[in-house]
Amino acid sequence: MIVAANWKMNPALDQASILATALASQSFPQIKRILFVPHPYLVPMSVRLTGAALEIGGQDCHFADHGAFTGDVSAAMLRDCGASLVLLGHSERRAAHGETSDIVAQKIKAAMAQNLDVMLCVGETKAERDDKKAEQVVIDQLQASIPEHAPPTGLMIAYEPVWAIGTGAVASPDDIAAMHHVIASVLAERYGANHVPPILYGGSVNADNAASLFSIPLVGGALVGGASLDADAFAAICTAAQDAA
Ligand code: PEP
Repeated sequence: MIVAANWKMNPALDQASILATALASQSFPQIKRILFVPHPYLVPMSVRLTGAALEIGGQDCHFADHGAFTGDVSAAMLRDCGASLVLLGHSERRAAHGETSDIVAQKIKAAMAQNLDVMLCVGETKAERDDKKAEQVVIDQLQASIPEHAPPTGLMIAYEPVWAIGTGAVASPDDIAAMHHVIASVLAERYGANHVPPILYGGSVNADNAASLFSIPLVGGALVGGASLDADAFAAICTAAQDAA
């Protein structure tokens, strides 16, 4: 079980420090906890969380090693600032920054070349689900985003229906189970049934719904946005994950 926090562009640094200190004092030995923090926080959070059982990651990286890419950061820069992994292909980046699966694939390549683990986000929009295209959209995103020779080691998938992110709407257990089955099948075809990377669910996960989400077959954890900014709520989600582990 993996519980990952996506802080997005939150919170202020003093609040982030308080949050990180609270998370460091909590213990969940049976699960993996990850914090995807804003890039300027990688160093201060790495320092604050030294020795704590939490992995720290960036929320994006460029596919190039270096160059004239104002405002971007490379995978090596993330690693040098304390990240052990990176979140890639989040729907907010696909939508607001025009990231195609092809670009995401290049970013995954760059991240893996720097020994960063990768959490790849996939998920359909509401219109795509209403059009009954959700599964094909997710299959296409997986096929195009995972580079041909990318190993399964260090790769994690987060299934995040776009319409469930930050809305309070959660996909139904049946739809989540069906989509996780589809994702696992695609990955099993590529890597073999025994090497399917963990598949997390994301989209309005909170302290109240986490336990039932973790009881759904093939759900290997959660990617949590809003609720991850509250230490108690995040702890409750981690407790539910630990109970399901
Ligand atoms: C996310 O940002 O990946 C996410 C799932 O957000 P939220 O939990 O707020 O829906």
